[in-house]
Amino acid sequence: MLLLLPLLTLTLCAQQPTTRDLNEINWQEFAEFVPARSETVLIPTGTVEAHGVANNGADNTAPEALAKAMAPRLNAFVAPVLAYGMTGSLDGYPGTFGVSEAAYRLMITDILTGWARNGFRNLIVVNGHGGGQTAVLSDVAEKVSRELRVRILVTNWWSVCSDVTLRVFGEDGGHAGWNETAFIQAINAKLVHPERYKASMATARPEAGTWSAFPFPSPIILYQAGQGYPKFDQGKAEAYFKGVVEKMTVLVADTIAKWDAANLYPRRVLR
Ligand SMILES: [Zn+2]
Repeated sequence: MLLLLPLLTLTLCAQQPTTRDLNEINWQEFAEFVPARSETVLIPTGTVEAHGVANNGADNTAPEALAKAMAPRLNAFVAPVLAYGMTGSLDGYPGTFGVSEAAYRLMITDILTGWARNGFRNLIVVNGHGGGQTAVLSDVAEKVSRELRVRILVTNWWSVCSDVTLRVFGEDGGHAGWNETAFIQAINAKLVHPERYKASMATARPEAGTWSAFPFPSPIILYQAGQGYPKFDQGKAEAYFKGVVEKMTVLVADTIAKWDAANLYPRRVLR
């Protein structure tokens, strides 16, 4: 048995693709792996939007890095990010804009359909941007799943991981708050600029029906007054990244295991 172990390890290694990035894979290798050896694709999507002292593309940087970190354990591939989304009340900030809901809806519909037709039957949307985008993603997911009989999970990582935020930082977060800024800091500290930070760049999210402002008066939007101001702690940032990857990986794995157990939408190749 002991002698067989190195052989077994070698065989398993030989089954790994040269890349899990669908930007980088070659079509022949794709055909060898999908769907015979992998049925799962992670689809990151975000938008271009001001993010306090982090990069305007934070909502793309975060889900893309998260998907790449999750992919090996899920035996999944990572699709190219859909980087233009439905930026809302922050679209007046420099270097920031959104595309229309109609355009976003069409793009995400065609992207989900395209990957389903290429053999994936577990389509996992790793969303990086909130606002109206989350509702559109859920709506499109329901329609495409029903029509093509594929399984689609839409995840909003910062909401899924609100308990990780509380555990690591001891307080709630915010849009471009401590949690999201830390997540970017863990991916690439050069994308975060503490020297530009002022507490006045943060505003607590208004209670429903109290007030609204366009543009929103600050690019950092705290989920709760007095909590979530960025503090730029590298150790906490790395712990948060790890915690988010773990929680999200478990969510995706658990969902796929339950779809499998219920034998939902048995495999068929769509072309
Ligand atoms: Zn964001």
